[in-house]
Amino acid sequence: MPLTESDRTADTAVLDVTVGSGDGFLHRIPAGGRFRIVDLEGNQAADTLFYDADDIANRYSAFDTIRAQQAVYLTTGSPLVSGRGDLLATIVADTCGRHDTVGGACAQESNVVRYGEHTRHQHACRQTFLKYGAAAGIGQRELGHNINFFMNVPITPDGGLTFADGLSAPGKYVEIEAARDLWVLISNCPQLNNPCNGWNPTPVRLLGWWSV
Ligand SMILES: [Zn+2]
Repeated sequence: MPLTESDRTADTAVLDVTVGSGDGFLHRIPAGGRFRIVDLEGNQAADTLFYDADDIANRYSAFDTIRAQQAVYLTTGSPLVSGRGDLLATIVADTCGRHDTVGGACAQESNVVRYGEHTRHQHACRQTFLKYGAAAGIGQRELGHNINFFMNVPITPDGGLTFADGLSAPGKYVEIEAARDLWVLISNCPQLNNPCNGWNPTPVRLLGWWSV
């Protein structure tokens, strides 16, 4: 997997926040802005959604993105496309090498189906998306298929999905350049029941570069 480093350094960032394990984040990124997610301790899944800030119905579409790039996994050069076919952003740097957009986000309902009734009351990404998305008007209807940055979901030769140990490591990052004004909505996944977080959710650092 080709890896691409960014020429930006943290000391020039206008945004520098750490999102705790299992917590969420919402921020508006202006067109042309660069946004980086750093997997601080490795093997963390950062479940992420992008919306056109001027029209949240124009949102990230995994299906249109896969079709646009003719590839299933995301990495440097991947266009992030909306359901209307608009370019929302492009991945411009990636030191991890591969990101999932097929596996979806965890929900209380899927936890119960996959892992049992005792997981019903555990935190899940869907609830975090709703909690943090509300400030931008993002509700149930606006939650589509997301990107799982740093998550390793190999597709098997017969078309199945498996959750596997991550490819990421401490300090690996992915950087995205906004093609228009965007909302970025993140659930730093609280999942404890599969290896997507190494069984132990950890924080991510978010850095941004744009003029304010
Ligand atoms: Zn999750």
